[in-house]
Amino acid sequence: MRLQRRTSRERRSRGAGSPAVHPPGLLQRLLERIRGREQLLVRAGEGFPLLLLTYPTGGADVAHTVETAFLHTLPRLPQHILAPYAETLAALPVMVVVILRPVNACGCLGHHHPPGTESRLARRLSMDLGRRVAEIDLAYEAIRAWEPHPISALAVGDLGGRRPAFRFEAALLAVLLHELEHIAFPQRKERDIRTTSNEFYANLMQELVRRESGAGYGMSSPARGTSTG
Ligand SMILES: [Zn+2]
Ligand SMILES: [Zn+2]
Repeated sequence: MRLQRRTSRERRSRGAGSPAVHPPGLLQRLLERIRGREQLLVRAGEGFPLLLLTYPTGGADVAHTVETAFLHTLPRLPQHILAPYAETLAALPVMVVVILRPVNACGCLGHHHPPGTESRLARRLSMDLGRRVAEIDLAYEAIRAWEPHPISALAVGDLGGRRPAFRFEAALLAVLLHELEHIAFPQRKERDIRTTSNEFYANLMQELVRRESGAGYGMSSPARGTSTG
């Protein structure tokens, strides 16, 4: 999170119509040129953007965790948890490139890349599709270590050792949606976006634990303003 400001050069998105998106052949051509990184296209269905995950060799497990979270966990969340992001999901471009790396040099959990600052991959896709392709990055080892709510506030127990996996999935989704909200609504204030993502994280943890344990669990009301970096 924490917006990294870069000089941005506004670019007009091309193509006003609604052309179908046929990424596979296109991706095949494009991705062969990329060395040392692998890509995974995640199609969650109507109402969600296509995510093109690009990750370093060795990051496949994390990419599949993001895929599972976005394909299966997110669309099946109770309405009240996902509702704060309905507007964001509706406003996003058809495709978002998600650059996964272990950590960011600046220490941030993620960034959104303003128009004109995207990588060559996103720019090429955008040109070939004739549509805007947005881009964000996520620092997955930093996200794994992130603890937005003291775990002591969550009476979740050990969950058979699966607690770290829940926390990682919830944190990945929270940071992903945080950056997507910046993409969808660049004028919104960091503080407001962060409040929404912190509450989403708390609600999501509660839901994942409820499913796992088959019961609710005690938790203080979602803390506001916790530091997220
Ligand atoms: Zn932010
Ligand atoms: Zn940063």
